[in-house]
Amino acid sequence: MILILKRDHDPQQLETLTAWLNTMGVSTHLSRGEFQTILGLVGDTSRVDIDLVKSMDIVEDAKRIQEPFKNANRKFHPDDTIIDVGGVKIGGGHMQIIAGPCSVESEEQIIGIAKDVKAAGATLLRGGAFKPRTSPYSFQGLRAEGIELLLKAKEETGLPIVTEIMESSHLPFFKDVDVIQVGARNMQNFELLKDLGRTDKPILLKRGLANTLEELLMSAEYIMAGGNQKVILCERGIRTFETATRNTLDISAVSMLHEMSHLPVVVDPSHATGIARMVPPMSLAATAAGADGLIIEVHNDPRHALSDGAQSLTPAAFAELAGQIRGIMPIVGKTA
Ligand code: PEP
Ligand code: MN
Repeated sequence: MILILKRDHDPQQLETLTAWLNTMGVSTHLSRGEFQTILGLVGDTSRVDIDLVKSMDIVEDAKRIQEPFKNANRKFHPDDTIIDVGGVKIGGGHMQIIAGPCSVESEEQIIGIAKDVKAAGATLLRGGAFKPRTSPYSFQGLRAEGIELLLKAKEETGLPIVTEIMESSHLPFFKDVDVIQVGARNMQNFELLKDLGRTDKPILLKRGLANTLEELLMSAEYIMAGGNQKVILCERGIRTFETATRNTLDISAVSMLHEMSHLPVVVDPSHATGIARMVPPMSLAATAAGADGLIIEVHNDPRHALSDGAQSLTPAAFAELAGQIRGIMPIVGKTA
């Protein structure tokens, strides 16, 4: 971080500022030019509040030259992180397809879909049990029973399961879940992130509806700072002025996140578009862009789905898409 000091700053204030920075383990380097005095901060500045610094009397401006995330930062971990979910690897050249319904609705439904997506080439099963719905009158998920049914589907098919957590008090229900999803609405539920940082489960962290990539990485940082390094980032579309699609899929996030971070990046074309027929082209685009995985909603009877039917592929459409994805994977240097 670099601080540009006001021209006629008080030397006493500069001494106080330097001493305060030293207490955070940051040393300083002063450079007095003809027109400007610049204070360079040396060391780990992630604990320095840039807005607080900018508000100080003697500071004209402050600029970060180092990102505020450390654990998630590619600069400190040049190699791709590979996350192993019961033998299924995500990241560093390994790409996986996660598929399943938006919500677990019944035993027959989840086991049927699990068998279908597995036969088509999915390597992980998704299904919502605790559902974050915009309306309190919409189906809220089967909750703990939904997780039990996912575990039965895992027993039947061997597919590891991915399901969303909404609050820390539910953690005991997730003890046999393979990947815990943090949904877009909870990306900045910092207490939940801290609690997940104390677990050793892989976390699929979705980008918030209106969050920057830096904010997504700061949320990953919360989990990693607690000791859990197994974070998978997920681009699932963001809010823009566009209303033709449910959200706007930010494909460039895949490349940018790969530059900024060593963590794997998964794309969710289902929530990004909200329209089933848009899911295949966006899945192929994400694969070509280098995504480390896709998470795709599949339903045996989309028209009667209890949530997100409009964006759900039928098992047949999913099977066709999975074949096309496998066709692109080797071109971008990916294997399962
Ligand atoms: C989901 O995956 O079912 C979900 C609710 O996703 P998001 O948090 O991205 O809206
Ligand atoms: Mn959904």
